[in-house]
Amino acid sequence: MGFRPFVYQLARSLELAGWVRNTSEGVIIETEGEQEQVDKFLRLLREQAPPAAEISDLCAQAVAPLGEREFAIRSSAGEERPEPVIPADIATCADCAREVADPAHRRFHYPFTNCTNCGPRFTIIRGIPYDRPKTTMAAFRMCADCRREYDDPGDRRFHAQPNACPRCGPRAALDGQPAGNDDPAAPILRAGELLAAGRIVAVKGLGGFHLACDARSADAVDTLRRRKGRSGKPFALMVRDLAEAESLCFIADRERELLTSPRRPIVLLRERPGNGIAREVAPRNLYLGLMLPYTPLHTLLFETAPPALVMTSGNLAEEPICHTNEEARAKLGGIADHFLTHDRDIHLPCDDSVARVAIGKPMLIRRSRGYVPRSIALPRDAPPVLAVGGEERNAFCLLVGDRAVMSQHIGDLDNVETLDYFERAIEHLGELFRWRPEVVAYDLHPEYLSTKYALARRDVKLVGVQHHHAHAAGVMADAGVEGPVLAASLDGAGYGTDGAIWGGEFLVARLTDFERMAHLAYVPMPGGAAAVRRPARMALAYLRRAYGDDAERIALDLMPHLDRREARVALAQAARGLNSPLTSSMGRLFDAVSALLGVCVEATYTGQPAVELEMAAGEMRNRCGTAAPPNGRRASPGRVFAPYDLAIDTSVRPWQIAPAPIVRGVVDDLRAGVARAEIAARFHYTVAALITRVCEMMARETGLARVALGGGVFQNAYLLELLAESLPRCGLEPLLHSQAPTNDGGLALGQAVIAAAMESS
Ligand code: ZN
Ligand code: ZN
Ligand code: FE
Repeated sequence: MGFRPFVYQLARSLELAGWVRNTSEGVIIETEGEQEQVDKFLRLLREQAPPAAEISDLCAQAVAPLGEREFAIRSSAGEERPEPVIPADIATCADCAREVADPAHRRFHYPFTNCTNCGPRFTIIRGIPYDRPKTTMAAFRMCADCRREYDDPGDRRFHAQPNACPRCGPRAALDGQPAGNDDPAAPILRAGELLAAGRIVAVKGLGGFHLACDARSADAVDTLRRRKGRSGKPFALMVRDLAEAESLCFIADRERELLTSPRRPIVLLRERPGNGIAREVAPRNLYLGLMLPYTPLHTLLFETAPPALVMTSGNLAEEPICHTNEEARAKLGGIADHFLTHDRDIHLPCDDSVARVAIGKPMLIRRSRGYVPRSIALPRDAPPVLAVGGEERNAFCLLVGDRAVMSQHIGDLDNVETLDYFERAIEHLGELFRWRPEVVAYDLHPEYLSTKYALARRDVKLVGVQHHHAHAAGVMADAGVEGPVLAASLDGAGYGTDGAIWGGEFLVARLTDFERMAHLAYVPMPGGAAAVRRPARMALAYLRRAYGDDAERIALDLMPHLDRREARVALAQAARGLNSPLTSSMGRLFDAVSALLGVCVEATYTGQPAVELEMAAGEMRNRCGTAAPPNGRRASPGRVFAPYDLAIDTSVRPWQIAPAPIVRGVVDDLRAGVARAEIAARFHYTVAALITRVCEMMARETGLARVALGGGVFQNAYLLELLAESLPRCGLEPLLHSQAPTNDGGLALGQAVIAAAMESS
């Protein structure tokens, strides 16, 4: 994207002749001229490449000169099988930003300024080839000036499909009133003033609507929470610029890179105390999710708005993010006081991506805007597989040749709106890649809507994939490893081959199959789903495991928040196995400890008890000065906590990891008055020790040394830092996700490569 015009300009500036052409293998350039100039060309190709271009490999070869005079951009058409090029959305480039800020420029204050190096892509594409008529920009006719830029190979806007200006392009509007001819940013500047006055404004951006308000106003944030019906889940912020971000959070180099990258994800950053941000933004969290403006509209908003804005998805509950003006008015009318909209349609919504840095590496928590539909390389060609993903944080995956294409974040597949979005997105992405599935891979859980969707498809081969096998294979695909490997697949829940709810799984994994070597011993989940919402129920189940009939007394003693009646009911359910499915979930063990410590007694979003337990442990670390804000730097050596006792029963297969000694350890510490933060830290050390111990035992038995760490538990940076030390110390090599999320948002990648391997085996 924007690469061919860059090559063209560079070649011309060095007086080189030849041509540049896009192919499915990459860009091919042929140049001729003075040797010195050619060498310089090769060097500058890397040094001056546009920000959105990533040169993964550059190789040069000498060919005989042809006596060419001109340099040309050759079309990629006429190839045997043109590979569709579908670029991701890119944040505003520095050149465009400068023009928007320049009162003398014809694009001064124009919120839809873009060029070949930046702007909307994926979110405006209706079909292929990626040309203006196939985008939602088709409705706008370029004026003579824009047309000239578009047609000029030497211009930065050569073939920039969404090219536009105030004369011919889309307009912003506030509450239905579009900008006049004086200032194209007028509605935006007015919206900024309303935000400064404490109002809630729905803002139409690149991939959908945000709900925005002043992040320093407790009133505004609280009102937004109430109206949106969202109690505990942290809100993301958009801040004016990097300086503002630095004033709010500690930012390490790797985090700064992520924050300012052209993909502009939300980055989770350690918050600076006393930064003035309302507590209601991220209650009981040590981190803030920050992003920088990524369209001129956002940048202009900050000319008048407060420097830090809550920018949360504009949706109702768990529905997809609103993306049309009509839908937003209908659904967000009860939440937003004002609507900042525009008339450039968003074809399909695409949420913001979310990332954090752990053990010095970027980690995606949600892979969406800016990343989609960029593909992940596979080691070999695969048949056309559609993997439908799981239920929570759904994203699906297509295998196209030797690439895996992950969809944008679809969301939790538990309502018709999201299911509809899921189906439309599958259709759309298939069309963009001129691709039809022959194989459909799905999760074994019979109640997942994604599973039901897969089973209803006709004329395809169906492959059911076990959830934790998929987590392991996802890591393998991401790391470019084919196996066999050892795997720790640790998460909240996944359907097991024995019908139980798995989630604390240690496997030997190949792409085609797996062996379950060890798991957390089963405990009942009293009340099923209720045990996920109310983590104290899991604490009861574990206390019962550790103390038998004394569990009730101990529970009421240690958890004053616990209702006596609920405790009785839950224990009775657990005892009789009434509405109490068995689980080996590591997530539920985190829940239990979180509730025991009083850290989190009500889960208002997935993983909340575990997230807050990690925060509690992190507080401890701060206090001990062991690791200053982790922020990507490796933990400096400091206070080390002794893990609780581990008990692994190897007399049965699979080996059983007994939770009772861990629970007893926590209870003893609580009774001894040990600080909760310290217990949280000790628990993390225990889980790390447990993973390391089991993997070591598996390694001894199998001779394997690589360990795929997959599943939502590994979003925990505190745990990862401990494992990054302990596994290598035992001769084990941890493999982690880097391109796809380790939570269920990355599940489809694993499903896809498993189905592909089974097809070709
Ligand atoms: Zn640009
Ligand atoms: Zn124009
Ligand atoms: Fe999972």
